[in-house]
Amino acid sequence: MTPTPSRISLGFFPTPLHELKNLSAHMGGPRIWIKRDDCTGLALGGNKVRKLEYILADALQKKADVLITVGAVTSNHARQTAAAAAVLGLECHLVLIGRPPEVKQGNYLLDDLLGAKTVCAPSRMVDDTVARLIEEYREQGKNPYYIPAGGHNIWGALAYKDGFQELVDQADFQIDAVFNAIGTGTTHAGLVLGKNSLQHPAEIIGISVGGSHTWCSEQILEVLHEGERMLGLTPTPATDLHIEEGYVGEGYTRPYPELRETIRLLARTEGILLDPVYTGKAMVGMLDLIRQGRFAREQNIVFWHTGGAPELFTNSQYLCSLI
Ligand SMILES: *Cc1c(COP(=O)(O)O)cnc(C)c1O
Repeated sequence: MTPTPSRISLGFFPTPLHELKNLSAHMGGPRIWIKRDDCTGLALGGNKVRKLEYILADALQKKADVLITVGAVTSNHARQTAAAAAVLGLECHLVLIGRPPEVKQGNYLLDDLLGAKTVCAPSRMVDDTVARLIEEYREQGKNPYYIPAGGHNIWGALAYKDGFQELVDQADFQIDAVFNAIGTGTTHAGLVLGKNSLQHPAEIIGISVGGSHTWCSEQILEVLHEGERMLGLTPTPATDLHIEEGYVGEGYTRPYPELRETIRLLARTEGILLDPVYTGKAMVGMLDLIRQGRFAREQNIVFWHTGGAPELFTNSQYLCSLI
């Protein structure tokens, strides 16, 4: 028996889909559309709200009363989990990788505002810290529920399988390609799962924001194959994935000049705010492939905006004109 995922309501769906006419004109085609998962609503939104509607359905079925998850100090996933916990009346404990920042800003500030407990740990200590927290909560008679970093599990992927269906239902045009940022690869896996289950011709193109091609591919296939088994679909071979690793720069959360220019371009042509960690890099990649002539003028491509704007407010002076 395949478990049917249930879903609770945390955000605003379907998210808007609209055309970026100024950007399309600026680039000389193709027609560029944007899917606004930055507008999922809950505490400034983002792609984790869509995942959490499925993940937390599982948590509630299991009668969880404390959510524990992991992320960078700058994590959007941690902030959205904290917000979801607040709405559902659950406790939330975040294990954040890195040193505690001197200044509370960006997502780290919002975690605090949303009432989550946080503990910072170096990456080699993260697993132990999570295990210890789970044990401590159990000793207090509580029922903690662990969410992997970025919501990287089958529920997160199924959320984006349904997200792809949502996009197809909205679009009154032929979708030729969909672009998304790859962090843990769950969103990408879900979109590929959606495409495969509908046998849709769109190409799903993932732009890595940190990991190598090999690492991303492993992360994606782990949840994609689980989803394909569940749905009775043929497993996608690694060679069918379209992953671009050339836009990472010096690493995760590390900006570079073209990233700044791209964030400014979207702000100044469309009033759209991209973030410096994920969607900015994904946009750099998409615009570069357009410039390379990968798409014809009349084709339709969709940029999946996955959120992240709170990180425009963490040590972001490099985005300013004067520096
Ligand atoms: C987490 C996140 C991503 C990456 O999603 P994955 O499913 O982990 O690949 C992309 N964009 C933003 C803004 C995010 O917070």
